[in-house]
Amino acid sequence: MDIKVSENYLAQAVKLHRENPVVDAHLDLAGEVLLRKKAGEGQIIRNHYLQNFRTAGIRLVVSSVFVETGNLEQGWQNALDQIAALKQDLEGMEEVVLIESREDLKRLLRGDGIGILLYMEGLDCIDGDIDRIGELFRLGVRGASLTWSRPCALATGCCKAAEHRQIPGPLTQAGKRAVKKLEELSMFVDVSHLNDEGFDDLCRVAEKSFIATHSGSRRIFDSFRNLTDDQMQILSGQGGIMGMNGCQCIAGSLLGNHLEMLCRHIEYETERVGAEHVGYGFDLCDSYDQARAILRGEPHVSRNDCLSDHSQVPLVSAALLQRGMDGDDVKRIMGGNFLEYFRRALP
Ligand SMILES: [Zn+2]
Repeated sequence: MDIKVSENYLAQAVKLHRENPVVDAHLDLAGEVLLRKKAGEGQIIRNHYLQNFRTAGIRLVVSSVFVETGNLEQGWQNALDQIAALKQDLEGMEEVVLIESREDLKRLLRGDGIGILLYMEGLDCIDGDIDRIGELFRLGVRGASLTWSRPCALATGCCKAAEHRQIPGPLTQAGKRAVKKLEELSMFVDVSHLNDEGFDDLCRVAEKSFIATHSGSRRIFDSFRNLTDDQMQILSGQGGIMGMNGCQCIAGSLLGNHLEMLCRHIEYETERVGAEHVGYGFDLCDSYDQARAILRGEPHVSRNDCLSDHSQVPLVSAALLQRGMDGDDVKRIMGGNFLEYFRRALP
């Protein structure tokens, strides 16, 4: 059984979401746009996302550029194709714009549009060639995780969410150079798929604050995709934020208690390190998986997300309020924290 949110708290949350900016710090949007484009669709963000973003008051979405393992051989081209597909989808769309600077973000928040911030989920595709980070920057990419849940030339990912074994491996010399390059360009660093060894190494080389765009608390659900108490202490101590992941196998809500588990992770870290270091990074994948299934001609896709789509994001805020969280803390968590971070981090 999941939390039953009362009408009263839902109304309070809807009001909060109408009056304050909401951020989703992780969505595989560029990849999905490319998949759907290949399947013959057009105006993908308008048709699949715009209304739900509006309903939830979402003003900024961090879109990953994620190269699937099967595409790694043409990884660089695939990444470029994703970026191009996303930009093409945004053409002629006044309501949704790419955010590349603090100035863009400021302008966005003065109006009522929705911003997309591009970042690399794993830098496998640069193949150890650090100069390519500069090329990604020129294309509008403003952040990166060194690796996805697999080893690459820079670092090693922890493991896939459904697995429970950690892949060993440090940050390589190229990985350390990549961190320097990212920081030099004011591109943020994401630790969400990094293994524990890599996390420790990163702490030794990073000079700017890094974030975890889509992870949870390992104390609440024992997955290597989630952050340990120590890691969260370090992350928050250097000004970082944990974007709460909304995948069932990372939140640990396989019994169907989705809202309850999301709240437990968020409340635990809020209590320990403060509400200013927690955010939303739901990583909703069902729509992406559906797009891939359509392209492959596969009929069925199982549901893996805690929320059916972005229109349900206010439910999480409502559940937090109902369980006693302070409204100002909820405001920070649902978007204020990440906006503050990106205001500092962006060039
Ligand atoms: Zn991910």
